Amino acid sequence: MYKTHTCGELRAAHIGQTVTLAGWVHRQRDHGGVTFIDLRDRFGIVQIVANPGESHVNSIQDARAEWVLQVTGVVRRRPDGAENPNLPTGEIEIDVKNCEVLNPSKPLPFMINKDEDTDENVRLKYRYLDLRRERLQNNLMLRHKVVKFMRDYLDERGFIEVETPMLFKTTPEGARDYLVPSRVHAGSFYALPQSPQQLKQLLMVAGVERYFQIARCFRDEDLRGDRQPEFTQLDLEMSYVHRDDVLDMMEGLFTAMIPAVAPQKRLISSPWLKLTYFEAVDTYGSDKPDLRFGLKLYDASQVFANSSFMVFQNTLKSGGVIKFIAVPGCAEYTRKEVDDLTTFAKEQGAKGLATLALTAEGVKGTAQKFISPEEVSALKEISGAKEGDLILFVADSKNVANKTLGALRLLFRDRLNLADKSVMAFAWVVDFPMFEWNEEDKKWDAAHHPFTMPKLEDLPKFETNPAEILSDAYDMVCNGYELASGSIRIHRRDIQLKIFQLLGLKDDDIQLKFGHILEAFEYGAPPHGGIAPGIDRLCMLLADEPNIREVIAFPKNQAARDLMADAPSSATDKQLKELHIRVVDKPAETPKA
Ligand code: ASP
Repeated sequence: MYKTHTCGELRAAHIGQTVTLAGWVHRQRDHGGVTFIDLRDRFGIVQIVANPGESHVNSIQDARAEWVLQVTGVVRRRPDGAENPNLPTGEIEIDVKNCEVLNPSKPLPFMINKDEDTDENVRLKYRYLDLRRERLQNNLMLRHKVVKFMRDYLDERGFIEVETPMLFKTTPEGARDYLVPSRVHAGSFYALPQSPQQLKQLLMVAGVERYFQIARCFRDEDLRGDRQPEFTQLDLEMSYVHRDDVLDMMEGLFTAMIPAVAPQKRLISSPWLKLTYFEAVDTYGSDKPDLRFGLKLYDASQVFANSSFMVFQNTLKSGGVIKFIAVPGCAEYTRKEVDDLTTFAKEQGAKGLATLALTAEGVKGTAQKFISPEEVSALKEISGAKEGDLILFVADSKNVANKTLGALRLLFRDRLNLADKSVMAFAWVVDFPMFEWNEEDKKWDAAHHPFTMPKLEDLPKFETNPAEILSDAYDMVCNGYELASGSIRIHRRDIQLKIFQLLGLKDDDIQLKFGHILEAFEYGAPPHGGIAPGIDRLCMLLADEPNIREVIAFPKNQAARDLMADAPSSATDKQLKELHIRVVDKPAETPKA
């Protein structure tokens, strides 16, 4: 080994010992000819001191940031007043006897020893340097602890980790597939799995009963939001379970894990709240509600049943609703501030926003002259609104009202600091609709994925009203994020076939894409269900990071490029030929970002 000790482990107890260390120059300074270096390795930082006139001093004096040194010296107590209580090794320093430069470093594109604001593209290009910084080192460590905890916890409960192939067939999760051309089978392609969904179900048919995998998933999605083309899930499946067996297993895991890996976080106690999908969207305007604060949505349609306000009347007549939130302490908002909120509401799809400000001088706002004192009392009654609050109404279809007020709720969360950052407010959202109407393609899509079990009592609605069919799907939500999705699965061929048909798949296509799983269901497939928490998002929340790229060692940028290795990149003509591929319409220059 190049070292006898790590830079982080030396303490007063080591005083007098001769040690050899190796690491990077974190910081360097000269005091009247004496050179001080903070030497860093993954385990910590220690101060080394070189006095002038000693043979090794030249190499030490030359050393610059991020040079790699090997240093031998004697551990001694720092002089009185020079201790650094912020450093675990702050009581001691190393009196250097010998120093060797193992490798110098070019001047850096950004500082490693400071958390300065660096352009993300530069950070991604030099990711190996970015990862040396404390923040990302901590994130890697956190991620390791999370995954290790999951593995140990599940192992103790009879789960086994099984690897499933990357080169497989389409496993739809609502995105496009990444395809890999086959060299040996001209014109044929593997698909990278969007998740191991079918494979884990086949493992249940195979008798594994309790499976998990730290699984990589590949989804070619439109470049929006905080997505990565490949990401990691704790993929899990259990046989002979009902919904709550899966939820209890996960709740147990997360309740034990969070204090162990992120003790600074506060967890809402078990049992977690269970909301139906409709309760969630009606009360919070979202199927992934942030439950760290109130600011609920209320339905005032009853209150305004006989309203003199035309806008409200017309909405109710056309089957819409009048919903509102009462924002605390914002009654004195200016005209301009209210206009900005209206613009925001319109961006969410609402026709407009009506306001009622409960000020000390009485009721004001755009809806004031249309709302009677009795109606104001009724609003206060249902919502607990009080003086100082600003009531925001959306009169629209239920969907638009929920969506708009849900977005306003989050806007005020951030503006008024309503959510405690140290809290992890976990909950379950259950009973999702089975299908969503795809207006563009004029067909039904699976709301979760096509392997989800519909509620058996809803099966007759297949012929009459698919929109009303509920499924045995569930989401784990936390602080406004969906952290996991799962469901009880279909294990019967007839039901699975029916779902594929309802999704508009032709019989030939079903056979081609899913013949294997339909056949497997005919050989004694046990009832089963599972879930898949996203590890990137979980780590992002635990590390208080603004996006998942910060908790992934080598992420792609938001244009799905790896800036460090410059991938994707072109293939040689020879490779293309072997793969039986001809590139048509090759752009003159591929955009880089
Ligand atoms: N395969 C699903 C997903 O990737 C998770 C599951 O249903 O277990 O979201």
